[in-house]
Amino acid sequence: MTGRTANQRLFGAARAVLPGGVDSPVRAWGAVGGVPRFLVSGRGAYVTDADGATYVDLVGQWGPALLGHAHREVVAAVQSAAAAGLGFGAPHPRETELARSIVERIPPVEQVRFVSSGTEATMTALRLARAATGRDLIVKFAGCYHGHSDGLLTAAGSGVATLGLPDSAGVPAAVSATTIVVDYNDAQAVRDAFAAHPGRIAAVITEAAPANMGVVPPRPGFNAELRAITAADGALLIFDEVLTGFRVDPRGWWGLEGAAEGWSPDLFTFGKVIGGGLPLAALAGPGSLMGLLAPAGPVYQAGTLSGNPLATAAGLAMLGHADDAAYARINKAASAIAAGLREALHAAGVAHRVQRAGNLVSLAFREHAPKNYSQARDQELFRYAPFFHAMADAGVLLPPSALEAWFVSAAHDDAAVERILAALPAAARAAA
Ligand code: PLP
Repeated sequence: MTGRTANQRLFGAARAVLPGGVDSPVRAWGAVGGVPRFLVSGRGAYVTDADGATYVDLVGQWGPALLGHAHREVVAAVQSAAAAGLGFGAPHPRETELARSIVERIPPVEQVRFVSSGTEATMTALRLARAATGRDLIVKFAGCYHGHSDGLLTAAGSGVATLGLPDSAGVPAAVSATTIVVDYNDAQAVRDAFAAHPGRIAAVITEAAPANMGVVPPRPGFNAELRAITAADGALLIFDEVLTGFRVDPRGWWGLEGAAEGWSPDLFTFGKVIGGGLPLAALAGPGSLMGLLAPAGPVYQAGTLSGNPLATAAGLAMLGHADDAAYARINKAASAIAAGLREALHAAGVAHRVQRAGNLVSLAFREHAPKNYSQARDQELFRYAPFFHAMADAGVLLPPSALEAWFVSAAHDDAAVERILAALPAAARAAA
């Protein structure tokens, strides 16, 4: 025996056969250092690692775990779906049922195309927008992450930001040249882009409320301005709700903003929660646009595992149990955690901002709230690693990067929240 922990041994073994030891970069803990925990089980608000340590989890599968881990009814739905066949490569009734439940919740959506990842959803949304408008250019915001397709990796947030990359190697310059990147929360920059390229921009794609540069909420009226600017030029507005959809509200971020203000984007993308923890995502919108997708129309898109029976069963069970009480529990826990965070960091004398967008929370080590990507990165990032490790030592697992959101679930009851609050003062002192 080497005396190494199980996590250390597993990470060593993983690095031999998986690049960096992981299948998705941020999981490697590069920004915080140390050995990532290899998780072997999860239940409710808690996860357990290979050494038997249990943590209150605030990663939440990076979003899907809205109801907590291994929710009984979601697991039962997947088990019964699996027993009836893992997949058919043919239509099955639950695809329609899940699409209908999305259409019923979000009235601007008439049709849904299921895919297996958020990356596919946004990639296809761009193709659809280009086909619908006959234009090539796309506007995206620095710090917004829409998955890892070539055209959307310029100034992307999430893991790209954590690794400090301006964009990814391997993306052809000709592809990047079709993406115009502007600062988030800056409507004038969007107007300028349209003025510089009149009639050439197919779409503006935006995270409905960005949470991949840490949480940076849209300033009031910003999304509505995007709606107006795009409509005036005949371009589409793509609302990426892969992260916020069905998480911040039963109708996603649109439910908190567009529904109240009376506007809607042209296309939505969803993911994470709608798959109930299994690989499933979607693009969605009015029949006039969605009907352009093959086989109804000329825009090709396909997938061997798209809308598979297990993921649709998990998604239906998840949405079925995401009732008002569940959202109320998430919001209450998120508010308690945010308040505890402020109090602990204030007491430790650490300059900080607790960022919120609905029930999404993140922490920025800077005095003023970041409004865009450059501000989000202009913080005392070095404080996050000691903070993160002090929380982990006290049994609370946070996202291993300051530029990611904390995901609270409906399973974060008083006991779980108490454990987080109890851990915060020492972590705040470690960050000081
Ligand atoms: N869009 C947003 C807003 C996301 O947060 C993510 C992933 O974090 C994606 C798209 C990409 O989704 P996936 O990781 O399923 O490809």
